[in-house]
Parts: sequence; C-alpha cells; structure tokens
Amino acid sequence: MPQPIEQQKVLQDKVKEHEHLVVEGMDISGHWNRMFGQRAIFDYDPDNLAKVATLQGGESLEWCYGCAKCTAVCPVDIVGDYSPRKIHRKTQLGIDLFTSDDLWLCTTCRNCLRVCPKEVDMIQIMPAVREQAVLAGNVPAELQKAFEDTAKFGNPLGQAQRKRDAWTKDAGVPVPVMSTIKRPVDVLWYVGSYPSYHPRGIDAARAAARIFAALGVDYGILGREEKDDGDSQRLAGEKGLFEMLAEDNIAAFNSYEWQRMVVTGPHEYNAFTNEYPKLGFDRPVQHYTQFLAEHLDELRPLLKHEVKARVTFHDPCYLGRHNGEYDAPRALLQAIPGVELVEMGRCRENGYCCGGGGGGMWLDSFTAKHTSMRLSERRVREAAEYEAEILAVCCPFEVSRFEDAAKSTGNDSLKVRDILELLDLSMRG
Ligand code: SF4
Ligand code: SF4
Repeated sequence: MPQPIEQQKVLQDKVKEHEHLVVEGMDISGHWNRMFGQRAIFDYDPDNLAKVATLQGGESLEWCYGCAKCTAVCPVDIVGDYSPRKIHRKTQLGIDLFTSDDLWLCTTCRNCLRVCPKEVDMIQIMPAVREQAVLAGNVPAELQKAFEDTAKFGNPLGQAQRKRDAWTKDAGVPVPVMSTIKRPVDVLWYVGSYPSYHPRGIDAARAAARIFAALGVDYGILGREEKDDGDSQRLAGEKGLFEMLAEDNIAAFNSYEWQRMVVTGPHEYNAFTNEYPKLGFDRPVQHYTQFLAEHLDELRPLLKHEVKARVTFHDPCYLGRHNGEYDAPRALLQAIPGVELVEMGRCRENGYCCGGGGGGMWLDSFTAKHTSMRLSERRVREAAEYEAEILAVCCPFEVSRFEDAAKSTGNDSLKVRDILELLDLSMRG
C-alpha cells in the first residue's frame, strides 16, 4: 500500500500553474491559477473503515467529513492526540481500530457527538468495535480483570457479594433491607458497587442513609441481592456480561413492591433509564440529586450548619450530557448555607470528563501511556485555577479519582466531596 508521505509528494508533483494567464480579460498569473491533477483519494485503503462501518453501531464512522469540531472538545485530545476525526483519518490510512490502542482511550463522554454536524456517534461505535476485540480476547489486562471480577463477584472491585450491605452497620441510622422488612416501600434505593464497597463511596452511602432518615423517606435497599449495573462494562465491550447482570438485577427489582427507584450514580441512572428498558425493565428512576432537589423544601430546614467554602461542581458526563440533568446538583449545593458556588470554564454541556466513563475507570495505567496527564488531573488543575476549596461531585467514580489527582498534582488543599457528604455535614455540623 502506498505511504501517505509518498502520496503527498506525488500530489505536489501534479501541481500545475501558468506563469502568465489571462482569462476573459482577467490576469490570473502565478499561484492564482494553481491547479492539481487528479487527487489520488482512491489510494486510501477502504477495508479497515468498512470493517467498522459494517458493524451494527459502527456505521457512523464513515459519515465523518473531517470538520474537526470534535477535536476541539474531546477531553482526551486536551491531554493527548485523539478525537473521532483523528480515528476516522487513521482508519482511512490503514490503522486497524480493532487492534489499535486507540480503541480503549475514548471515555464515551459524548462531547464530540454534541458538536458533530454528521452525528458520528462514538457512544455506538466504540462498544461495537470493543465487543469484537473482547470476543477476540484482545483486551488490556487491567480491564480484563475488572470484567472477570464483575462476572465472579457481581462488582468490579472484586469484593464478596455477602459484604455488599456491610457498610450499613456504621451508618448511624437503621438501613432497611427489602428481604428483611418484607413490605412495600415508596423508594427502592439502588446503592451501587462503589458506594457499597469503596471506602470513599461508603462515606457517601452512609451520608445518604442519614439524609433519607432525617427526611423520613420510606425506602429499602436490595443489599446482597443487588449487583453492579454493568453499563460501563457494556460500553467497554462486554455486552454479554451486561445482559447477565441486567437479568439478575431486573429479577431482584421485580421481586419487591416499590413506587420509584433512586440511584446513587449517574452510570446506573443511565443504565436503568436508557438500557434496561430494552430488556423489559421500564420503571420511574431518579438520580439522588433529582430526588433530593424535589424535596428541597423539607431538606432546607435540616441544613442548619454553615459549610463556609468556595465550591465548584464537576458535571458527571452520564448525568449531564447523556441525560440532560445540570440543575438538580446545583440547586442542592446552593441550598447549603455558607457555600459559594463558582463555575469552572468547562461546565454543564461542555463539562470536562473525569476519565472514568466507558471503562476508563479500569484503564488508568493503560491510558497513562498515551496521555500527558490523567483526565482527572487536568480537571483538578482546572478546579484549582478557579481557586476552589472543595470540588463537589455526585458520581461514585469521581471521589477517589479526583482525590488521587489532587495529591498527584500537588493540590492537596483541594477537598473532594460528594454532594451527599456536604448535605450531611450541613445537617450534622
Ligand atoms: S465533528 Fe463529526 S464530522 Fe466533524 S470531524 Fe468530528 S466526527 Fe468528523
Ligand atoms: S466520546 Fe468523548 S472521549 Fe470519546 S472521542 Fe468523543 S469527545 Fe473524545
């Protein structure tokens, strides 16, 4: 196959211009009449692009017309060399996306799709190609481990299923478990894997339990009957694992009576509102920020203590861009006395990605080989540039990511707190 540089030289040789040319009385001498010979676009190898485009979900990669709007907003390009345009171009020039490291760098943050005039959809393309790579056994080792742990233990942290409700012991309030209370409830709270097992996630889960108790919410959790939602594994290419988890979770959801579901994480919110309905589960679901914002009148009098701090908020991609919720988290933060809320430049629709979506949560070491810094580190630096004292989040992936990033970038004074923790702090002092 001809090399691109050689192609360019051939094209330069084909440039034609007349030293002196007058057309219909107009002098267009020199470079004004520069013309090219036939462009050798047929020298591109169409096979690799066709391989992607023939997959269900991969079609839109062929629609790219190279405007590069996506490159300007892709969070990975800001710390590396990446975007749908670049993927399209590289694939045209012969790179096999199915075996390229580029396959694993996209976090499915959706910022490119927001601006793309041709609707090139990485949220469909990436899982479709990754699924083939998974079937071929071509998966980065750290991601493979998360897949295996999820399949074996029901969560990507590799923790025992029987310990899934162990966090409830020290919540300071009773946490009702559906299998024990054996009665219908208003709210089924889906806690999620990181709030159940990760030490910093547990802090947020316990805070939520105390807030629900103070509000008198009639709720229950599934405890040991709950499994990971599987959405990030699906986006990372493990569709079969996602379907298995969804089947188990739906059976657990359907075995109890409840009016609405509240979830701790945006990824679960996305899974249960956009993906599980395709598998037969279609019930009302709210992210906790939406549920609490709806109860703001009852919540406000409970927020008795000032949290005096300059706070900035990181929009989770899967709550904001994917599902359109930007206001509920801000309403909660603004209700906390003493909080001075400042917006970072990259916020709301153009919010920066923490790097944890689409399997990125389990690919940090792999991604580090291709970027100048982690996305979480770039984000923490932005929060520090805005002189924030607290970076507020409402996605269980983010607390640990940003706390690590604050340390590694020397911004140790920046605190990272889930909104649940800030509400709880204001309630209890
Ligand atoms: S914005 Fe869309 S059409 Fe433009 S370069 Fe990016 S993927 Fe291609
Ligand atoms: S989805 Fe996000 S990370 Fe992936 S290519 Fe688009 S902008 Fe970049």
